[in-house]
Amino acid sequence: MIPVKSYAAMSAGAPLVPFSFERCDPGPRDVAIEILYCGICHSDIHSVRDEWGRGHYPMVPGHEIVGRVSRIGKDVSRFKPGNLVGVGCFVDSCRSCPPCKDGQENYCEHGPLFTYNAADKNGEHTRGGYSSHIVVDEHYVLRIPNSLAADRAAPLLCAGITTYSPLKHWKIGRGHRLGVVGLGGLGHMAVKLGVAFGADVAVLSTSPGKRADALGLGAKDFVLTTDHAELGKREGRFDFIVNTVSASHNMDALLNLLRREGTMILVGAPGEPVPFSPFSLIMARKNMAGSLIGGIKETQEMLDYCAKEAVLPEVEVLPVSRVNEAYERVLRGDVRYRFVLDMKTLP
Ligand code: NAP
Ligand code: ZN
Ligand code: ZN
Repeated sequence: MIPVKSYAAMSAGAPLVPFSFERCDPGPRDVAIEILYCGICHSDIHSVRDEWGRGHYPMVPGHEIVGRVSRIGKDVSRFKPGNLVGVGCFVDSCRSCPPCKDGQENYCEHGPLFTYNAADKNGEHTRGGYSSHIVVDEHYVLRIPNSLAADRAAPLLCAGITTYSPLKHWKIGRGHRLGVVGLGGLGHMAVKLGVAFGADVAVLSTSPGKRADALGLGAKDFVLTTDHAELGKREGRFDFIVNTVSASHNMDALLNLLRREGTMILVGAPGEPVPFSPFSLIMARKNMAGSLIGGIKETQEMLDYCAKEAVLPEVEVLPVSRVNEAYERVLRGDVRYRFVLDMKTLP
């Protein structure tokens, strides 16, 4: 067994505290990873606070993991000790359903095995990346390109792929007007990737203080969504809107900004319903869609793309002991634009 140091929530909504446990030694196809950095995703906060209603405690969150391979099983062929690698939101899937066979393990019909807070086939709950080590089947491990810094690569494993995948799926790029709602971890990656793909990007935000940053990230427009006059001027403007908002909000006001037959893509996953009027769609044949992270192949493609094009997250690296303070700041919208925990600072 591998002794592991971590930070865990002992009950729903409790502050995270140091927690020790053990992981199994790597099996024949497993890679043991010494974790260097782990990003803080808003999903970690929804989970710890049990806002999605299936919290299991002690819970060790974290699914934006970058580390070095420390040991490999005898049948591992893709990795060697010392390789810089990543682990994202899931660590297994059934491998035989149509989406799994298609490389879309994120949509596994039996549910991907999420990196933390998910029951594995033995009924044990997975534990995530706010920890010193993790052991993962090599198929679910990503290669981090050499040119990427380990700390800045971490948020790509969730925020990066969650925004890359829908932009690719809907072929969003040159000639499209893209609105990004919420300038947080996912939102700032949606802006950077949208700009890189050639779209005309606007940020739709509740935070007036983020205007300069939005334009600095390459957005051509910044719209304060609390200002009705500002919204009114953009009615019918956008071909696509990527919505990253983490709480309930006025969906009708946003749908109004789509052109005829435009598409709202939901990636934000609030714990409560976000109501809207059917008229917001039917009067102009608009579409409402959703998207969940991305498959392993696409995640590798995204990492390689971001390395080649230098599309990198803006991060603030913190010692693990400041995780609770970071959560409070994320909840206040005060993150520019992803917190990353330095796992070497585990007590
Ligand atoms: P984040 O960094 O906290 O960003 C969310 C942003 O939404 C905030 O910065 C804020 O931006 C805006 N916002 C927050 N509360 C709001 C409210 N009440 N009304 C309007 N706007 C509000 O969070 P994140 O890590 O990017 O995650 C965003 C959401 O995506 C979370 O719900 C998370 O669970 C979900 N998620 C989904 C997937 C997926 O696969 N679909 C993957 C990862 C995360 P402004 O200050 O600019 O308004
Ligand atoms: Zn995430
Ligand atoms: Zn499957």
